Amino acid sequence: MDYLPIFLDLKGRSCALIGGGEVAARKVRLLLKAGAKVIVYAPDLGGILAGLVREGKIEHKKTAFEPSLLDDCVLVIAATDDKTVNRAVYEAAKARRIPVNVVDQPALCTFIMPSIIDRSPVIAAVSTGGASPVLARLIRAKLETLIPAAYGRLAKLVAEFREAVKQRFQHPEARRRFWEDVLQGPIAERMLSGQEDAAREALAKRLETTAGGVKPMGEVYLVGGGPGDPDLLTFRALRLMQQADVVVYDRLVSPEVLELVRRDADRIYAGKERDNHAIPQEDINHLLVRLAKEGKRVVRLKGGDPFIFGRGGEEIATLMEEGIPFQVVPGITAAAGCASYAGIPLTHRDYAQSVVFVTGHLKDGSVNLNWEALAQPSQTLVFYMGLHGVTDICRELIRHGLSKSMPAALVQQGTTRHQRVITGTLETLPGILEKTKVKAPTLIIIGEVVTLREKLNWFRPSAPN
Ligand code: SAH
Repeated sequence: MDYLPIFLDLKGRSCALIGGGEVAARKVRLLLKAGAKVIVYAPDLGGILAGLVREGKIEHKKTAFEPSLLDDCVLVIAATDDKTVNRAVYEAAKARRIPVNVVDQPALCTFIMPSIIDRSPVIAAVSTGGASPVLARLIRAKLETLIPAAYGRLAKLVAEFREAVKQRFQHPEARRRFWEDVLQGPIAERMLSGQEDAAREALAKRLETTAGGVKPMGEVYLVGGGPGDPDLLTFRALRLMQQADVVVYDRLVSPEVLELVRRDADRIYAGKERDNHAIPQEDINHLLVRLAKEGKRVVRLKGGDPFIFGRGGEEIATLMEEGIPFQVVPGITAAAGCASYAGIPLTHRDYAQSVVFVTGHLKDGSVNLNWEALAQPSQTLVFYMGLHGVTDICRELIRHGLSKSMPAALVQQGTTRHQRVITGTLETLPGILEKTKVKAPTLIIIGEVVTLREKLNWFRPSAPN
């Protein structure tokens, strides 16, 4: 190791900052976060630092730098443009054995500043030993996604119970097992999803019952996998996918998204092709219950959002009846994903004040909808599962008053590298689609907003279809 990572307690201790610009301000902010007493030495201050002085958060001395200024401080950072001053600061600090950092001059540092992930009291610091601050930032971004914002609260909960757990389990090994269980299971999950009281209660109960050796109940996460592009997953979706024991997924879940599930999780395909359900819904519901009762953490992964044409409601109703803990993680629904990636805003001040998500595939196979309500001016219509009914849909909308020339678009495999958008009007679209080989899944967007695509089309995937 070129450097030893340590965490300094700076509360109430004097730190000197030489320099008054923006870089200095960034360092000052960090020092203040750690509770330090900051004295800035600079002829002039930039706006941010001047503001902090006015608020009484830092002290400012207009003095030019001289070594004796460092006599009473425990840490010093130099952030000036003046090489001579920077070197003088370094020499003075070194002579006094005070840790010193000269920004962007590694040769003049006895300590370096890491990239920081702050989930206080949990803090992670990343350093590349000064080799590449950009790389350190990229690693930090990765860690940001892995360490949920609520880890700080989780750590506080652990601290609350630490003594009680120590009392109950004399043996360190037993304690470790207990905490591993808690921190990787439903209790931590509850805490992370903001249900603090429920988590605290469950933890107290677990503490009471653990000695009895009760087998823990599993849990189901109903997760929206988004429309296809894995970058559109939420942080929570990704985290739950990476701790799953088993994943039950639909046809709509893209291979790239499935790839992100923990490698050694079991994978169960639940199908859901149009009119060809690999597993009937009823059986999926019971499968989830059975897996959870075996103590597994089950990710039920669905395309788009679980509560938008996803039958998520039915699945959790069964879980609820059986008393299985679960949570629902929203995803980006196809309408939002396809519209963004096709350059078609779903609402627009000049063209559409409302947007309707509607299914083109009814339970009995017909397309029997409230056409009057749908054929309204200044409204965008988004048809899910509409490809097979597209001729009926366009005909009925015209019959109920929409113009034949109303723009309409079909988005195929939206947000993926295979995305393709076909545009026409209510009159022409069905004919165009008859002559085109279209690949599922597809979404149909109808309304004046479709014309905006001519100007706003930004996503041009290069993959062949
Ligand atoms: N719960 C999903 C929708 C499930 S219904 C969601 O919120 O997006 C299935 C329909 O969604 C498909 O028939 C298709 O109309 C639409 N769909 C899902 N993903 C799509 C995609 N990437 N591109 C186009 N349409 C998509």
